[in-house]
Amino acid sequence: MQVHETIVGFADQLDRARATGRTVGLVPTMGALHAGHLSLIERAAAECDVVAVTIFVNPLQFGDPADIENYPRPLSADLARCEAAGVSAVLAPPVSEMYPGWPAPRATTVSVGAVSGPWEGAARPGHFDGVTTVVAKLFAIAGRCRAYFGEKDFQQLAVVRTLVADLSLPVTVVGCPTVREPDGLALSSRNVRLSPAERCAAVVLSRALAAGRTAVAAGERHPGAVAALMARIVGAQPTVELDYTAAVDARTLEVPARLDTTAPVRLLVAARVGPVRLIDNCEAAPAPTPSGARPTVGAGVRAVRA
Ligand code: AMP
Repeated sequence: MQVHETIVGFADQLDRARATGRTVGLVPTMGALHAGHLSLIERAAAECDVVAVTIFVNPLQFGDPADIENYPRPLSADLARCEAAGVSAVLAPPVSEMYPGWPAPRATTVSVGAVSGPWEGAARPGHFDGVTTVVAKLFAIAGRCRAYFGEKDFQQLAVVRTLVADLSLPVTVVGCPTVREPDGLALSSRNVRLSPAERCAAVVLSRALAAGRTAVAAGERHPGAVAALMARIVGAQPTVELDYTAAVDARTLEVPARLDTTAPVRLLVAARVGPVRLIDNCEAAPAPTPSGARPTVGAGVRAVRA
């Protein structure tokens, strides 16, 4: 495994691999690697000849100075995990390599519209511009590849897919399922900052999602009712401060008029637990309209559009 601090060294290694006919799988991360990241690395290793991991805590995507200051950075342990997982190339650059002159502002920002707007985009102004700017740079550095992202950050995955499609980047984006603790909490590098009591409370996010999914499967068609149900469950946990819950069209991240089988549904939740802001999401499968039942006007309009 080669560990690079420079863009040119990492890019050269991947160019040489492709020149000998090998395919590249890219796993962009901010480090503090856990089993969720490793699942992306394993998928990349199963599908590509060479696995490349980037470890970079991207200052552009943090709004809260305390969040970036306290972000865990266990680089040696991360490199050992990469090596054990069969990674061939790691890019772990200093900020000055990615953003010369930092913190002076750069002239170029990559910004994706529409799908970046709601939810995390609204809660964390500038966050997705930071993500899309660094991901565009990483794609330019890595070159033609398959790139592996977690569904854990579902809106980010949608934003990155839009970036690649709109700019015709030579990258195939692969979404991978969320890895969870046995009690349902989604793995996150930020979980290490939770106290034992906060760690117990944090499971309410996945419990709310599970209840929302059950309601949708049982025939609840109103996105607002599903969001309210999930909000009630999170709100019942006094140490957790709800940010948002939503039932959205998984393709656009917009709230549909009704939840039905014409559009994939995703349930979203974000909340603050102690010092940490956590997000989670899950798929939901709406019950089919019973045969013989007349769809409402709203459902009919959506069906025609689809
Ligand atoms: P991060 O280091 O948090 O920026 O995450 C790097 C990549 O790992 C992103 O594509 C995340 O969506 C993904 N990821 C983070 N947590 C999980 C998880 N629990 N399961 C699957 N993928 C994850």
